[in-house]
This record gives sequence, C-alpha cells and structure tokens, in this order.
Amino acid sequence: MREEDIADKLKRAAEAIKYADALLISAGAGMGVDSGLPDFRGTHGFWRAYPVIAKLGLSFEEMANPAWFNDNPHFAWAFYGHRLNLYRKTTPHQGFTQLLEIGSAKPGGYFVFTSNVDGHFQKTVFAPERIVECHGSIHHLQCAATCTDEIWDACNENVTVEESTFRALEPLPRCRNCRALARPNVLMFGDHRSARHDLLSPPLRGRAGEGGTTSAGVCGSPPSLTLPRKGGGNGDAFPARASAHAI
Ligand SMILES: [Zn+2]
Repeated sequence: MREEDIADKLKRAAEAIKYADALLISAGAGMGVDSGLPDFRGTHGFWRAYPVIAKLGLSFEEMANPAWFNDNPHFAWAFYGHRLNLYRKTTPHQGFTQLLEIGSAKPGGYFVFTSNVDGHFQKTVFAPERIVECHGSIHHLQCAATCTDEIWDACNENVTVEESTFRALEPLPRCRNCRALARPNVLMFGDHRSARHDLLSPPLRGRAGEGGTTSAGVCGSPPSLTLPRKGGGNGDAFPARASAHAI
C-alpha cells in the first residue's frame, strides 16, 4: 500500500474514532507485539520464541494441548509458566493507555473483546467488567481434573521454570478444592470453548447478570470468578474438545 493511502486511511480512522459515541476495542496477538511479546505466528515464529520446543519438533498446536497436563505436567507448566512469567513482567505499550484515555472520554465508554490471554488490558487498568477475554486468561486457573466449576486468580502462584531442561519445578499449581493439578483457564487445542468467555460475555451482549457470578478478587484485580453452571453439570462449562482456536 502506498504511503499516501495509509495516511488517508489513518486519517479516516481517526475521524471515525473522534466522533464515535463509544469505543469497542477488539484485539488479538498483534496487540502484544509492540510490548515485546511473541505472537507465535507460524511454526517458525513459535519455534523462535521457544527453541527447546523447536528441538522436540512440536508445533504450537501440539504444544497448546491440555493432554500435556496429564501426560507430562512439568513440561506443560514449563510452557504456560514461562508465558505467565513473561506476561507478568512485560509492561503493556503506550497504545493501551491511549485507548483507555480515548474510550474513557466517550459518553458510552469503551468495551474490550480480546483473544489475548496476557491480561494486559487489566494491567493498564481497563475496568475488568468491560473486558471479554474470549480465549480465557493465563492469570486464572482451573482444576485439570474438573472437580469444580470454579476458576481462580493465579496471583498467589509462582511457577519456576528450569531453562536448561524446560521443566517447571515443584510445587506446581494445585486445585484449591481437591489438590489435583491446576491448569491455566485458557482455551487450548482440544478444548471447545473458554469458560471465561462464557462468564464475561453477558455484559457485552447487554445481558448483564445472566450466566456466572463475580466476587471480590483475592489480589484486587481482576476479580475472582465463578463459572456459570449449565444444567447443573460439572464439566460442560469447562473447555473440553474440538476447538479451531487456541492459545
Ligand atoms: Zn480439583
């Protein structure tokens, strides 16, 4: 695209934003790249970020699979623990703050719909109740054995990853209810949807109050959350099978 065309499109976009009554921000992996986060685009992009996994020849689709938490928990938590630590220590770029300022000044405010699991909108102090994380959040955990519908804040967990072996060291995060292994509340290949998406979507759809409940967060922000019960069953609010998307 020619430079003038880009300038023209940016001008039109700026005008549209200037005169909008409200701002709906949709975000994906590209949003984090300017903060210095890898986007895992293509197998080689993923392998650049994780050379140890490249040596094993595993694609992102093969790595982002909940089966690892059963088959090799220390390896599974090495991958997700490394990402948890990376997202915690990375500062969201200035664009987050600018969007928050623009959205906050609108009469209708803002809403965020993001497939990112890094929690960087909350880190920029976007209001948690105005964010839908459709692929879940790495900052929340769920029971890998699905003993409960609950998800909870991972803020009290510290995962140490031994770089040389790419193994997470004990203690691994455990279910606060049954002490089985916990896993991140993120949508993986093999899951069918994110419980967090189900939970956070109603306000966006103008149906606040339907679905799950929220309560005050253990660590302040974001709030701890309870999954919606569907038909009284335990398992069907959890990510389960056959997803075309994963993180
Ligand atoms: Zn459990």
